[in-house]
Amino acid sequence: MSSSIQRIGVFTSGGDAPGMNAAIRAVVRTGIFHNKEVYGIMQGYEGMIEGDVVKLGARSVGNILQRGGTILKTARSEEFKTKEGRKKAYDELRKVGIDALIAIGGDGTFTGLHALYHEFKMPSLCIPGTIDNDIAGTDYTIGFDTATNTAVEAIDKIRDTALSHNRLFFIEVMGRNSGYIALYSGVAGGAGAIIIPESETSFDKVYDLLTAGEITNKRSNLVVIAEGSKIGGANEIARKVAERSSYFDIKVTILGHLQRGGSPTYFDRVLASRMGVAAVEGILAGETDAMVGIRDNKIVFNPFDAVMNRPHDIDHDMLRIAKILSI
Ligand code: ATP
Repeated sequence: MSSSIQRIGVFTSGGDAPGMNAAIRAVVRTGIFHNKEVYGIMQGYEGMIEGDVVKLGARSVGNILQRGGTILKTARSEEFKTKEGRKKAYDELRKVGIDALIAIGGDGTFTGLHALYHEFKMPSLCIPGTIDNDIAGTDYTIGFDTATNTAVEAIDKIRDTALSHNRLFFIEVMGRNSGYIALYSGVAGGAGAIIIPESETSFDKVYDLLTAGEITNKRSNLVVIAEGSKIGGANEIARKVAERSSYFDIKVTILGHLQRGGSPTYFDRVLASRMGVAAVEGILAGETDAMVGIRDNKIVFNPFDAVMNRPHDIDHDMLRIAKILSI
């Protein structure tokens, strides 16, 4: 590929997500395949400001495909949010001769890269790596599938004990602004109710749904709740139900950070590999200030503005499916 770009910098930023390593590997090997040098920037924007940069070879990304987390580490940087911070970062990049950037992260990461692009015009692309699947312009983000599988495994285990003891379980999964993990793990795990930030519901509606189970003799039940639920988290909802009725034997499980780690699923590895290859080939072909996405199983490049000014709408069909199947 003929491009004036010679040295590509790659980094991970924001929350870690399983599959980030597979994306790093793909970026490094694709760059080298096209006769470019690839540099890993450690600790996201913090390392960029400090000039914490390492040259990566094809072998230095061996045996990471199947590992969770990120070998480049990740960090949050307040300094990068300032113009002075970004100038420092740009100067450090130029010292090494880096002339293009590929970021793997979430919307905050993209916003930072967009600002850097506008100030210094360095070709830049983003790869969506976040378990929340909360980014517009892509059907899936890297890490969502693995995190959801982890949640489903936990729900299956909890179901065994819920059934044995006739218990009502409230299971809280990750998703501060996005109900994707809750919705998909809830459908896959057979939840009796799913509570997500995007749906208009009330405590009374949820309570009515649970007491409907009392009439149909549903003795055990599972309710999956996204942490960003507008009607309270698992503990709060459980407390309110217990205050209203003694019919239920109630337990709460909060899955927390175990959803972030672990070996990525085949789906996340393949997704990350495709996006990593596309990001390098895209940037060499002149794509910039954009995010790689996957729509209807095809790679797409979304201009930054199209991604950042829209929410990733919840899957309404899946919401309907969840409702039908929970009777
Ligand atoms: P996740 O979805 O997992 O939280 P994220 O990429 O959204 O990932 P953030 O912590 O929001 O994570 O952002 C990562 C970093 O991006 C921040 O620490 C900061 O350095 C940079 N960043 C975020 N917002 C801005 C902004 N408005 N301007 C410049 N840089 C920003």
